[in-house]
Amino acid sequence: MSTTAQATATIANLDPASGDLIAEIPCATAEEVRAAVDRARAAQPAWADLGIEARAAALARFGERLAADAEPLGALVTREMGKTLRSAVGEVKGYAGGVSAEAKEVVEALAPISYGDKAKNVTTVHEPLGVVAAVTPWNFPVGMPLSIITPALVAGNTVVFKPSEHTPLTGARLAELLQAELPAGVLELVQGAGATGAALVEADVDMVGFVGSRATGQRIMNAAAGSLKRLVLELGGKDPMVVFEDADLEAAARCAVEHSLRNTGQVCCSVERVYVADAIADEFEAKVVELAQQWTHGDGREDGVKMGPLVSEGQRAKVEAQVRAAVEEGAQLRVGGVQPEGAGWFYPATVLTGVDQGHRITHEETFGPVVAVTRFDGSEDQGVRFANDTVYGLGANVWTTDPARAARVAARLRAGQVGVNRYLGGASGSPWVGARQSGFGHLGGPDGHRQFTVPKTITIGR
Ligand code: NAD
Repeated sequence: MSTTAQATATIANLDPASGDLIAEIPCATAEEVRAAVDRARAAQPAWADLGIEARAAALARFGERLAADAEPLGALVTREMGKTLRSAVGEVKGYAGGVSAEAKEVVEALAPISYGDKAKNVTTVHEPLGVVAAVTPWNFPVGMPLSIITPALVAGNTVVFKPSEHTPLTGARLAELLQAELPAGVLELVQGAGATGAALVEADVDMVGFVGSRATGQRIMNAAAGSLKRLVLELGGKDPMVVFEDADLEAAARCAVEHSLRNTGQVCCSVERVYVADAIADEFEAKVVELAQQWTHGDGREDGVKMGPLVSEGQRAKVEAQVRAAVEEGAQLRVGGVQPEGAGWFYPATVLTGVDQGHRITHEETFGPVVAVTRFDGSEDQGVRFANDTVYGLGANVWTTDPARAARVAARLRAGQVGVNRYLGGASGSPWVGARQSGFGHLGGPDGHRQFTVPKTITIGR
């Protein structure tokens, strides 16, 4: 796999279940990236002039095309990044079904603002920024691009889209379905890895919409500083779950296992740290062990498989190294933790107990199928202190049957979203936010949509 477009002219697109080559994809050079941005720049005024309702209608029609393509596109997602076919098709259908509603939300969020009777002559409108770069990851290779592309386009921007180097064909199909409903130049596609992404950030774009790791987010922020490009950065996490003595243990254990292992743990808001009160820890851990043992892994195309492989050899090596370090530091390996022989980047469902607050795995994003359990003394203070002891702040959840305690703890957890006696929730139209170093800006909700515009206030003299 290439890491720079300069070093090699192609990326090797590999099937993670077998390691087989799917395709060699040529990387866009910096010159080709600039040409794509120029085409998007040229197309932008006419796209903006079309009007917001017509733009939203184009996105809604794209949503119908996407829904019709759910089965083949889902199969492609599984082939490129390994998730189970059921969840890949579910991802496509879920986002296809949501495009039209989100486009409507953008229309509402960008409605002109007036200031009441005393200032009838003042109006604020939301103008497009120009060209938006969409740089996205592989773990939800349909959903993450759309979380940027939909609001950017409906707001009247044009977009240059760079999908992940692990899911280039999914990105290409998504672009093709969008382009079928858009005038030429409104959605440009560039392929490649980090160097192509960096070239896109360097190019003459007005905004970078990025979903990916914290490390890449920092690089993008540095690179964008020179020309003060607008940024929305949705980054990684190390989400805690705090289980108090009075929790529904069965439900809490199910949540811990499901949301540590779902998508082979490759979810930004996976449960990455489970804090359980000492008094109920033995019982809780036994339930977690029992449940995790039911999580089979295998080729995501096969029936009954709950987890596909990890996306790449590098990702598996990272998970393996973290688990090994945790055991060396004193954690107990209760399930899994042994890399299987044979082809494909499989890693079993793994449970670690006795994880300490000082262990490496407590602080680095794992992004793999590991349930990491740490005991705490059962007090709100220690539970909250441990949970907040991270540079991240994407999600968090708290389990207790005492509503007053739930409210106090939810208020003290530093996270963009908190689940109480459930995993993270939210509603259609609520924002997707990361606190601290999990993000900069946010997606969704009226404020999120407005970040793809510049507000302009017009005052008319009497
Ligand atoms: P990554 O940061 O390695 O890559 C993301 C994208 O950035 C890819 O398209 C990549 O080619 C590109 N890129 C790499 N270097 C670049 C550079 N210097 N300049 C511009 N672009 C560059 O992340 P990943 O491995 O693809 O995805 C996993 C990460 O994404 C995890 O940390 C996960 O938590 C995070 N994530 C966050 C959210 C969220 O909503 N907060 C959602 C999904 C994934």
